[in-house]
Amino acid sequence: MASKKTRKIIKKSKISKKSVKKSVKPKNKHQKIVKVKKLQVDSKKLLRLDEARKYVIDVSGEKGLEVFQFLISRGEMEENLLARKLKFEKANAIRKFLYRLYNKNLVSYRKVRKNNKAWYTYFWSANPEKLALIISQIYEEEIKQTKKSMELNKAEDFYVCDICNRRYEVNEALQNDFRCKNDGGILNHVEPEKILEDKQSRIDFLNKKLENVAKLIKK
Ligand SMILES: [Zn+2]
Repeated sequence: MASKKTRKIIKKSKISKKSVKKSVKPKNKHQKIVKVKKLQVDSKKLLRLDEARKYVIDVSGEKGLEVFQFLISRGEMEENLLARKLKFEKANAIRKFLYRLYNKNLVSYRKVRKNNKAWYTYFWSANPEKLALIISQIYEEEIKQTKKSMELNKAEDFYVCDICNRRYEVNEALQNDFRCKNDGGILNHVEPEKILEDKQSRIDFLNKKLENVAKLIKK
């Protein structure tokens, strides 16, 4: 009796997960409506962005990027099959990479117990839309920080060491004979306008990038 009940629950949870997975074909009109809600992204173009590739490699290594790209191109896949397709020596060797990706929400899994066996079978799928959001957040954060530092730069004039780039206020630079305390480097006067210009062009550049990522998201 109990096992029958458990199976029922597993079946039920499978259906509720299906409704949010984009890789699963909708069975009826209602599910199609649910499917539209999920953010979709042009993952091919997304993975052409250096920042996107770099982020995935930082998280899970070159091999992890390979796993991620493969899941994007093939859709949801059973773990052992995935390991075989990607030529991992042991099926569980791929888990290390999948977990690293999973920790950043870049992949999801669903586990299914077949024929009342003791173990679960894992099906993995990629979440490229999460990557698009993460990349956007990275750009947004840098824009925010750059704007903040522009406010600081507007307020004052300062000097910068030509070796370590340490920043000195006018009085401090004067006291130290225009030499750096760390390394004796020469302290150069910095024109606030020049810095502000550089920062503004960095912000413009990042906004452009942000726009490009936004274009990849199909709403
Ligand atoms: Zn210095």
